[in-house]
Amino acid sequence: MKYTSTRDKSLSVSSAEAIKTGLAPDGGLFVPREIPQLTMEDIDKLVPMTYSDRAVKILECFLTDFTGSELSECAHSAYNKNKFETDEIAPLYKVTGDMYFLELWHGPTCAFKDMALQILPHLLKKSMVKTGETKEVVILVATSGDTGKAALEGFKDVEGTRIIVFYPENGVSDMQKRQMITQEGNNVDVAAVNGNFDDAQSGVKQIFNDHEYAEVLERNNFMLSSANSINWGRLVPQIVYYFSAYCNLVKNNEIQLGDSINFVVPTGNFGNILAAYYAMEMGLPIHKLICASNENNVLTDFIRTGVYDKNRDFKTTCSPSMDILISSNLERFLYQVTGCDDARVSIWMGELQKTGRYEVPDVTKTKIKEIFYGGCCDDEKTLETIQSVAQNNGYVMDTHTAVAKCVYDQYKQETGDVTKTVIVSTASPFKFSDSVLTAIAGEETTAGADEFALLDMLATRAELTIPASLAGLAAKPVIFTTTCDKTEMYDVVSHMLNLS
Ligand SMILES: *Cc1c(COP(=O)(O)O)cnc(C)c1O
Repeated sequence: MKYTSTRDKSLSVSSAEAIKTGLAPDGGLFVPREIPQLTMEDIDKLVPMTYSDRAVKILECFLTDFTGSELSECAHSAYNKNKFETDEIAPLYKVTGDMYFLELWHGPTCAFKDMALQILPHLLKKSMVKTGETKEVVILVATSGDTGKAALEGFKDVEGTRIIVFYPENGVSDMQKRQMITQEGNNVDVAAVNGNFDDAQSGVKQIFNDHEYAEVLERNNFMLSSANSINWGRLVPQIVYYFSAYCNLVKNNEIQLGDSINFVVPTGNFGNILAAYYAMEMGLPIHKLICASNENNVLTDFIRTGVYDKNRDFKTTCSPSMDILISSNLERFLYQVTGCDDARVSIWMGELQKTGRYEVPDVTKTKIKEIFYGGCCDDEKTLETIQSVAQNNGYVMDTHTAVAKCVYDQYKQETGDVTKTVIVSTASPFKFSDSVLTAIAGEETTAGADEFALLDMLATRAELTIPASLAGLAAKPVIFTTTCDKTEMYDVVSHMLNLS
């Protein structure tokens, strides 16, 4: 299968090339030329398999220039008991008769980003070999908190690669920051950016699109690539867990093969929910995709009105990994939903760049509403939701998952839909202990406590075990202290690579 660009469909590259380069040369995103189809029989065959075997089957549909044994090597190195705290990798937790949480945070960094970033380095290394690449790859990451650490863990000490992570100085939780500034590995660098996530992301995009700088890098035998969800190599592994969740429901006799279900996805960059959309287009029986936003509700408005307008105040919330006003992966959805209209997508993305706004026509609006429901939830409601689910169901969620649960409640109230529903749980509650404890025990309990005291308090309060990777951070020295302005991001990169 070949890949093309959302902004120019005359382009045609292999999956290895798409994964290696990350972003298409015209600034568009790589998309598959066609979407592979699975029948109910195909899905039935996945039911008895382990997570990593299911992954191989889904990856095979998209990464046709990789052999089965190569994909098997990648999947088994990523999804195993050494890396994840559970054999199941992505377990489903049944809350009530028709509602489940899909826990995607049992990996090394306690957030769902591990699901893709544990396998991406393996796919990338093989892609380099396949495309005859001899330069060293430099992974540039802008993170709203969780991607940075997951990418660092995935790429640390991977031969032939370097990784540089930029995070917004005041836009990540204490624990997220601690995870990044203590990162070990001989090929890693981390810097804080004065600004918010969109500043960090646009800085990284600018470096990516700078052809002159690319030549400087090339002369020094480096090339840039991306571990953000703009890289197709991050999206494909995310499609897997939607199939896997469905198979687990069938396996546990919660549904019959062929029944439709809903997924609720807490959304920022639109990567995770886009993977669900691809699963749906491949034939997974999905009734509705519920797109949940925090107060940065640009997507809620878009789904409801067809107008994408980022001209609004950026809000810093207690679900920081969703504090995003430019949802990059929406571009891929627009390409698909307009029947691959690359010219239209280019115009919209041009308008977004120039005016911060674009509007899709009525036919597109109708299609969007058939697939998605959009809703949002502020911090107060988020904490209330954590509290009520803890009290009523004995289940303690993180803030991002709580946004999803809250929006699901709105959806159910509004539509009366009783379809069985899987809420995608994207982070361990321990990653956001401060907010979670405030929700379940009151603000006074957290006052003055540092991030490690908070872990202990949450463990006691919620009767849960602290993930080993978080507990271990207390003993690790701080390695990275650089803070830069948006305009200095080039210097950080050049400095790390010793460019003259
Ligand atoms: C990244 C992240 C999200 C948002 O996912 P997108 O793919 O950016 O939409 C939600 N929750 C958590 C915990 C995350 O780390």
